[in-house]
Amino acid sequence: MSDTIFAPATAAGRAAVAVIRISGPVSRETLWALAPGRLSPRRASLRALRRPSDGAVLDQALVLWLPGPASFTGEDSAELHLHGGAAVTEAVIETLLAMGLRLAEPGEFTRRAFEHGRLDLAQAEAVADLVDAETEAQRRQALGQLDGELSARHTAWREGLIDALASLEAAVDFPDEEVPEAVAEQARAPIARVAEQLADALADSSRGQRVREGFRIALIGAPNAGKSSLLNALAGSDRAIVTATPGTTRDVIEVVLNLAGYRVTVADTAGLRHSEDPIEAEGVRRAADRAVGADLRLLVVDSAAADEAWWAVVEWAKPGDLLVLNKADLPQGSSGATARAWAEEHGMETHALSLSTGAGFQAMSERLSVRVVKALAGAEFPAATRARHRRDLEAAEAHLRRALAELDGGLAVELAAEDVRLAARCLARIGGRIDAEDVLDLVFARFCIGK
Ligand code: GDP
Ligand code: ZN
Repeated sequence: MSDTIFAPATAAGRAAVAVIRISGPVSRETLWALAPGRLSPRRASLRALRRPSDGAVLDQALVLWLPGPASFTGEDSAELHLHGGAAVTEAVIETLLAMGLRLAEPGEFTRRAFEHGRLDLAQAEAVADLVDAETEAQRRQALGQLDGELSARHTAWREGLIDALASLEAAVDFPDEEVPEAVAEQARAPIARVAEQLADALADSSRGQRVREGFRIALIGAPNAGKSSLLNALAGSDRAIVTATPGTTRDVIEVVLNLAGYRVTVADTAGLRHSEDPIEAEGVRRAADRAVGADLRLLVVDSAAADEAWWAVVEWAKPGDLLVLNKADLPQGSSGATARAWAEEHGMETHALSLSTGAGFQAMSERLSVRVVKALAGAEFPAATRARHRRDLEAAEAHLRRALAELDGGLAVELAAEDVRLAARCLARIGGRIDAEDVLDLVFARFCIGK
């Protein structure tokens, strides 16, 4: 049996209200000791909270008695809605500690909810995502996942496989030779269908992760082209949700924007050039990783330059990237014309602008929003929102491909059945139905206290 835990559920500091959550077997006695009297389940009552040891009044609080198993954690629980002052919260925390309750670990309430079957693991992750959500798209996705939309897709696939498995097992049990073929044929269709759907979902699976973590844009261009100016213009626009912060290396500066309701990170990959110096080369390598790994690159070119220094960075461009011809306010040099011709040849969208005067910037940043929406808005709920989900979906698809090959190759039906079973396990693992121990600590370590 678990112990009784408690934690402030609201952010520390001065606020109108501070909520303390309690969960575990002695929740009821604790609440009765602090606020004697009859309490109806799930009804807020205003009470004087008293320290049981000496009867001193700690606060006038709203108290809630939330009996299990219909509570968030599935256990007997309670909530104390205190006046938000630090001293009030502190006094109540000390009282609860003195009464033998334990301060919860980060994510422990949600972990208990998972352990009592109130949420599956993907839904538990969604609780953390919802707390962290900064943009409308993150909020919508986390809420859908909490609602079970992601789990529902995986469950439907798993059920298809369990059906197929029933047919395969029937085939295994047949003693003579001709029957299994017909039965195996019956199993083939659902396996092939789920494999196809998994392939489609995987092709689309970076979408959910990008919504959660941010769509990644990299600025690339020769020194002096205007990358930093562009980064500042984007950060200075009213859509920056975090001011420019140095990245993990001095070579990558990043801003986070909210474009059309989506989280977008824009990285200035300064110093993308070839270098003999090992330390600088390491910086170049990181900047290059950033450029290559981005979902979209903005190739920034100084269109007033006579030289064509930008050629050196062209190797990082990919189809679908955007060309930004900066310094339109200056007399144009040969560099602008060559870059434009090159972009046209490569089917790249071009925007001429001036970051000094601001001309053309608005149009370019609107195009960025359109590109982000196109990349991240999808008809269906994404089947994966984390790398963990994606890995298991990939493994499930691989097992199904093998199962199909085994059926087609006329190999023992048992082999195919085993692969289908393993694929179903991979899908079950995402919801934490099996093998949960391996991922629990990882999933819950990232929660805040009180969740
Ligand atoms: P980076 O090296 O690519 O990051 O380029 P910067 O953003 O640091 O800009 C290099 C220089 O070009 C700076 O002196 C900027 O003030 C200047 N600059 C940037 N954009 C424009 C522009 O549109 N017009 C003009 N005239 N100067 C610009
Ligand atoms: Zn710069």
